[in-house]
Amino acid sequence: MLWSLVKILAFVAAVMALTFGTAWVMELSGGAEITVAGIELTLSPLQLTIGFLLLLLGVWVMIYVVGLLIAVLRFINGDETAISRYFTRNRERRGIDALGEGMMALASGEGAVAMARAQRAERLLDRPELTNLLVAQAAEMAGDSKKAEATYKALLTDERTRFVGVRGLLRQRLDAGDTETALKLAEKAFQLKPKHAETQDILLRLQAESSDWAGARATLAAKLKTGTLPRDVYKRRDAVLALGEAKGILDETSTIEAREEAIEANRLSPDLIPAAVLAARSYVTAGNPRYAARVLRKAWDVLPHPDLAAAFAEIEPNEDPQARLKRFEALTKLRPEHAETRMLLAELNMACEWFPAAARALGDLTEVEPTARNLTLRAAIERGQGADDAVVRGWLTRALTASRGPQWVCDKCNTVHQHWIPVCTTCHGFDTLSWRTPPRTEFAMPGGADMLPLIVGTPAKPPAPVVLVKATADATPADKPGPN
Ligand SMILES: [Zn+2]
Repeated sequence: MLWSLVKILAFVAAVMALTFGTAWVMELSGGAEITVAGIELTLSPLQLTIGFLLLLLGVWVMIYVVGLLIAVLRFINGDETAISRYFTRNRERRGIDALGEGMMALASGEGAVAMARAQRAERLLDRPELTNLLVAQAAEMAGDSKKAEATYKALLTDERTRFVGVRGLLRQRLDAGDTETALKLAEKAFQLKPKHAETQDILLRLQAESSDWAGARATLAAKLKTGTLPRDVYKRRDAVLALGEAKGILDETSTIEAREEAIEANRLSPDLIPAAVLAARSYVTAGNPRYAARVLRKAWDVLPHPDLAAAFAEIEPNEDPQARLKRFEALTKLRPEHAETRMLLAELNMACEWFPAAARALGDLTEVEPTARNLTLRAAIERGQGADDAVVRGWLTRALTASRGPQWVCDKCNTVHQHWIPVCTTCHGFDTLSWRTPPRTEFAMPGGADMLPLIVGTPAKPPAPVVLVKATADATPADKPGPN
């Protein structure tokens, strides 16, 4: 607003100055006489002024023409000029168009088209950090992994695109299953961008898989620091890693560090059963059975588990069965209704040969949630009570086709693991194992499970003494899984 006002005022002032100037020049007397080659020119002041202005115009035109001539000469010479700039701009526009089309093709899943556009853009633009990215992704989509790898390697040379290059190579190595190189690349990527959540996760997984527990714990701490992990999840995962570390060291020798790692893991996550077991064993080795018992009691209260019972038994390895039953009250009174507690109590009573008490402890477990283990226990109890062979065989027959009960099952891929491990062997999930009953799958027995009664006798209830083939169903109580 103010600026337009100033412009108008300036214009008015210029017009006024021109008018007054012309009038003044016209009123001036005298003039100039120029003699050139014998010709005399007499100029009035007005003519003189006009002549002067014409001269100025002439000089300006001359400068412009000379400048243009120089530009043309330089263009011919190959230098950058307005003319070459025009062509460059045109080229750039076509390059950016090609880049855009390439990105569109990439998004619509047309690998070959994207590749062609990317190469065109590469030719036109000469901006490798932009076009290489598109080339690499297009090559990957088109299935040309060699080209993609070469392009990712080219990206490494520029500082701005180094991370993208490392990440691309890392993903390729992961897809190829080359975890060793992938781990090195992940470490490099983490160095470049420590706050990148995806890199943190990949690195953590690779470190855990390659049993680099100390490295994995450092990565986990970085994850906590950058806020990509809630504190409670951190504590649990750190415990799992500490446990992995302890297990790793325990495999070789039982050192002080291993004991401390186990105890630390148990402190971080008291409900982590293998940590509690390891910590308890560490306390026993250190001559501190009271601490060991406390750790196991705490874990049993959260989730009764046969490994806890086994570790509890190890506290006093040489006691007689009655003393053991008495000492185990510390555990068995904690979760009396839990299936694991009832089976433990039955086993302890059986060890004392108190079969009616064992049967009472087991109660209706074989009816409510029959598993291979409690059915085998029932068979052993029946045998101890002097039942008929056919009855025992009946229970064992049921045990054969019954559920295996809770086991270490991966929450992600449902793989059953013999022992607890931090990383699933099938899907490589970290801390995915939980103690539960796996989903039932039908037994693939030759001839089918229907044949069983013919072979080992009819199932119990009612136990029928019809035995076509005399099979050796001689299960002694020693065969059962127990705390010893
Ligand atoms: Zn798994």
